[in-house]
Amino acid sequence: IKSFRPFRLAIIGSGPAGFYTASKVMRRHNTARIDMYEHLPIPFGLVRYGVAPDHPEVKNCQDRFDECAELPNFHFFGNVNVGFDISLAEMKPHYDAICFAYGASKDRRLGIPGEDLEGVYSARDFVAWYNGLPDYADLKPRLDEGSDVVVIGQGNVALDVARVLLSNVDVLRKTDMPEYALELLSRSKVSSVRAVGRRGPMQGAFTIKEIRELINLPNVSFDRINRDLFPEDLKTLPRARRRIAELLVKSRTTPLSAAKSFSLDFLLSPTSFNSHSSTQNQLSQITFQQTHYTDPTTKFEASATVSTDDQSPKPIILPASMAFRSIGYKSEPLPGLSDLHIPFNTATGTIPNALGRVTLESTPGVLENSPLPGIYAAGWVKRGPTGVIASTMEDAFATAESIVKDLESGQSMLNYENGGSTGLGWEGIEQIVHGKGVRRTSWEDWRRIDEVEKERGWKLGKEREKITDVGEMLRIVDT
Ligand code: FAD
Repeated sequence: IKSFRPFRLAIIGSGPAGFYTASKVMRRHNTARIDMYEHLPIPFGLVRYGVAPDHPEVKNCQDRFDECAELPNFHFFGNVNVGFDISLAEMKPHYDAICFAYGASKDRRLGIPGEDLEGVYSARDFVAWYNGLPDYADLKPRLDEGSDVVVIGQGNVALDVARVLLSNVDVLRKTDMPEYALELLSRSKVSSVRAVGRRGPMQGAFTIKEIRELINLPNVSFDRINRDLFPEDLKTLPRARRRIAELLVKSRTTPLSAAKSFSLDFLLSPTSFNSHSSTQNQLSQITFQQTHYTDPTTKFEASATVSTDDQSPKPIILPASMAFRSIGYKSEPLPGLSDLHIPFNTATGTIPNALGRVTLESTPGVLENSPLPGIYAAGWVKRGPTGVIASTMEDAFATAESIVKDLESGQSMLNYENGGSTGLGWEGIEQIVHGKGVRRTSWEDWRRIDEVEKERGWKLGKEREKITDVGEMLRIVDT
């Protein structure tokens, strides 16, 4: 790119993917100007609204994001919903490059009967509720109406949900969980949580830390797992899986006096959510079909697959006053992607790309697909909604590397072949956004909201009391 003006990059999304991309690009090119767009008035994506409140240390990455945001060439545009408040076509002429880092805002459904019964929740919605994401305060899960909970799935989100349901609410009071959630959790009647998986313990997506935390919860018993699901000699397993197996095999079924229980149930696939006729459209039980290893000789391997087939014995029915579907998040195409001929793979929920460079199409067997100049993706919308913040950081760094290389070669920026973009960035679209009545928030505005949250939290003896209403956030920044 010609050097008479700074390189302008728009990043859509202010989660880890957006921030790690921004910080790396700015570190390599300190004159690069970055405009980060975020549809909420405040930053940080799932670090604020996904990571469990009782894991505050995971949120330390925010310190690094703060440092990035304080750099003079970084600008935050909160409360701007790209694709709605401003179209991509309106944005494009004013940037040299655009990076999509808008995460995964939907969740996957099971597609089985009864999924819309009262009491069947998406784990994503529940997580959003207990983390104070605006618009979720009214979820009011039926915690005070029954004791048996089934979580469908055994990944980290499923285990976060189980832990929150089984934790002592007084422990949660010290976290940044909003008061409305604490109030309802304090009245919870939940005493049994089962996390159910289609495969066996040797294929589980969980980490030893996550399992240990659950097993060690005070006043919660842990149901012993069938020994046949593990190899006779655990030493034959690779180290990480051996440690998990040892923990699961050795864990005691703790005192009968424990008021609550947790179990991991394996080789079960849900086939329907059911209500008793007396409870009409309220969930009361779930029917499962047993699954089998497709090849029983591989049952201790991490990649073993299972299926449900005709030989399945009679269905298994578990009582459930609530169920949480936790089988993964899903990205959606941003409105207007197709206007710019940007592809979206609906099967994987990703924007096809090679090392973060968005490609016209993903052709199996072709290593280098033709990249769309100046269009990039990072994070969950780039690689799919799996992996922790560290893996998101790595893939954001790889995207930043591609952006920097293309910037240095000057070959493939947006509109380059037509003489370059206007380079105006936000200044080029400000009138359009304001014309729609949008009150854009700045980093200073976020700082003000942050201060008020901390003040309110201090009075309650916690780190912060989150503001969970966008209108209230905007009133705070306007006073
Ligand atoms: P996100 O963090 O989702 O950020 C995307 C951002 O884009 C959001 O702020 C969103 O509001 C914004 N956006 C969306 N659409 C638009 C639009 N149209 N215009 C403008 N902005 C938009 N990882 C760990 O390391 N440890 C954990 O303990 C952990 N716990 C987790 C718990 C849960 C429940 C979940 C779901 C994830 C957890 N993760 C954890 C994973 C981690 O959160 C992700 O790896 C990471 O947040 C993905 O980053 P991202 O930037 O791609 O997406």
